[in-house]
Amino acid sequence: MKDRKVEDLGLASATRIVAAGRRPEWTGPVVNPPVWRASTHLYENMAALAEGPRRNEDGRFFYGRRGAPTQWALADALTALEPEAAGTVLYPSGVAAIAGVLLTLVRPGDVVLMTDNAYDPSRAMGKGLLADFGVATRYFDPLDLSAFEAAFCDRTRVVLLEAPGSLTMEVCDVPALASIARSRGAVSVLDNTWAGPTGFASLSHGVDVVLMALTKHIGGHSDLMMGSASAGPELYDRLRLRAQSLGHVVSPDDAALALRGLRTLHLRLERETASALHIARWLVDQPQVARVLCPMLPGAPGHELWSRDFTGGCGLFSFVLRGGDAARRVRFIDALSLFGIGYSWGGFESLAVPVDPAPIRSVMAWPPADTDPVDRFGVRLSIGLEDPDDLIADIERAFAKAGDK
Ligand SMILES: *Cc1c(COP(=O)(O)O)cnc(C)c1O
Repeated sequence: MKDRKVEDLGLASATRIVAAGRRPEWTGPVVNPPVWRASTHLYENMAALAEGPRRNEDGRFFYGRRGAPTQWALADALTALEPEAAGTVLYPSGVAAIAGVLLTLVRPGDVVLMTDNAYDPSRAMGKGLLADFGVATRYFDPLDLSAFEAAFCDRTRVVLLEAPGSLTMEVCDVPALASIARSRGAVSVLDNTWAGPTGFASLSHGVDVVLMALTKHIGGHSDLMMGSASAGPELYDRLRLRAQSLGHVVSPDDAALALRGLRTLHLRLERETASALHIARWLVDQPQVARVLCPMLPGAPGHELWSRDFTGGCGLFSFVLRGGDAARRVRFIDALSLFGIGYSWGGFESLAVPVDPAPIRSVMAWPPADTDPVDRFGVRLSIGLEDPDDLIADIERAFAKAGDK
């Protein structure tokens, strides 16, 4: 369902983020939609009860599995932020969104083409969930368009893209890949968790289904898990019916938290992007650093396509330490005091994790062929809302400590 008032005014995304999903019929006289905690929805009489199952539409009370105004408001807000989307389905996590989308689109015997730098649990789904249901997964290098074209067969049903790629941050040509997929009769799905709807307009760039882990930027405070998928009318309808049959619902409390996070998305992303760029620029000049993998940084891999297609960045990027000393990386990460060691990203607090893509890649070389093979120990940083100069000082101290021993 679509909130035309917000959609049609040609508003900047910062303004839409504030206005989206706040229909008066859901918020009442207050600013935010109340938290509707509900499994049972009550019917006025037997006639209304009999009518219920016949009308499976957005925004109709039925039973908790189809949500209530708190979840509807969040879905509505995300739809308003994605030009060309007919609606948005919410899932209990980002991984549930990926599984829910794939289980909507494939049948036994189909083939999924998956970008080799996909989020690791997506790759694991290829080997586990999809294989168990008779669906084959093939991996492709998203930077090689001719190899991508050659990878199609007449059973290829879905292409799963991610930009930038997980951990190593390559930026692929999403419009070109999506257009090839469409010409071969496959549905393109983009994991757009990194840029979010304000940083990359997925459907406008030819993608058929865009999904996100709301756990990251939209929640923004490391206190909830949720996912979403948005699409045009036909695919949206299939996604929501499949989500209903899989019993995918999100709690109204989490939906309210996600809406609260959404309202400051623009501010947080602007700040994180500026801080990440500041830190990435500093890292480029450090003798301990071989390469910085930050597409927002001029001269870094992927910067040209990022500048062409994206309207925003975020705080997540990686860098590669110089020299093949794994123990030094352990000392470095352990010595950081302002960066937490932990999975996830997109919260208000900075995080660091090691990056070792080699064992999980099928066709993309790590380290890349045009680099010194000794330099292979990566670190991924999620830059939060701290002062970036404090973060630089922390990294500088950790470099010194790591080198001392
Ligand atoms: C974290 C993440 C997911 C999964 O989200 P969860 O809510 O943790 O299940 C999916 N895609 C990308 C790119 C992610 O970083």
